[in-house]
Amino acid sequence: MNGMPDLSDPRYIGITTTIPVEIVLAAGLVPVDLNNLFIAAPNAAELVARAELDGYPRSVCGWIRGLYSTALACGVRRVLAVTQGDCSQTHAMMETWEAQGIEVVPFAYPYDRDAELLRAQMTRLAERLGTTMEAAEDVRRALAPVRKNVARIDELTRTRGSVTGLENHLWQVQCSDFNGDPERFAREVEAFLAEAEQRAPGPEMLRIGYAGVPPIMPDIYGFLENRGARVVFNEVQRQFTMADSLDVDLVEQYRRYTYPYSVFGRLEDIGRNLEARRIEGLIHYVQSFCFRQIEDMLVKRSVTTPTLTLEGDAPSPLDARNRLRLEAFLETLQARRKVRR
Ligand code: SF4
Repeated sequence: MNGMPDLSDPRYIGITTTIPVEIVLAAGLVPVDLNNLFIAAPNAAELVARAELDGYPRSVCGWIRGLYSTALACGVRRVLAVTQGDCSQTHAMMETWEAQGIEVVPFAYPYDRDAELLRAQMTRLAERLGTTMEAAEDVRRALAPVRKNVARIDELTRTRGSVTGLENHLWQVQCSDFNGDPERFAREVEAFLAEAEQRAPGPEMLRIGYAGVPPIMPDIYGFLENRGARVVFNEVQRQFTMADSLDVDLVEQYRRYTYPYSVFGRLEDIGRNLEARRIEGLIHYVQSFCFRQIEDMLVKRSVTTPTLTLEGDAPSPLDARNRLRLEAFLETLQARRKVRR
């Protein structure tokens, strides 16, 4: 399919969400986050349509439909899929890949964050990929500087507004697979950071938090900034950087990672950051047909910050309804700001 790299070499391994990438790298494999490949594809909408042509129901999440077709289009022969701690729809997607001849390697995060269970899962993964936890620990140490630099990019968004919400999203989201080449990615991060450190502070804007899975319509960031609002907190994307866990071992690092476990760890992280980042409005993004929509009520109950729930479906620019809702939300926040001053 047009616009896809050829990933049929057995060194490539697709991933469907953030997994202990240090183990994959220690095994000498090249991780490829299929989410990033899908959303960056010039024909992302066609990829979704292809899944439907193959028989995927329209009532399946757009990311799942896109991921399914992306793996087939790039020709990847092996995929590491998270069977617990990510997405209930992944199971059936794995089966449809297996039926097409793709080898599926399962990985499960224990729901209760049990350290021994997590260690056992990680050790099992290391064995399956032909490496060891000790080798993965070496990779963890080697990745610490790049993770720290990406955390500094986030800090520039938060403190000086000199890195945009979109840049913040893009650099953090790439920490799931380091674009398959951590050394090159580290150089790119360093070059960006050197330039960003020289930038003048950004203009004063409304401070917005973004919670939930990464958006299927990334133009949301530019849309907000054109209307005087900047995302200064990308919740799940920031989790991908593991920036809170640079000084702990690999098992603890993935135990602290909030996304795969119960929603309550995420709520704590969101609450802490809303306060620390002086967030004036929270956008809780939910994906159409995603089971995580149920968690929206828990997010809303747990925060006092004004919150807008925004739903996305297909990989396309923001639709008129969402534009109107965002504009009305920003107007409310502006009015609130004036009253407070
Ligand atoms: S948005 Fe929800 S349903 Fe879709 S892949 Fe992510 S977790 Fe699964």
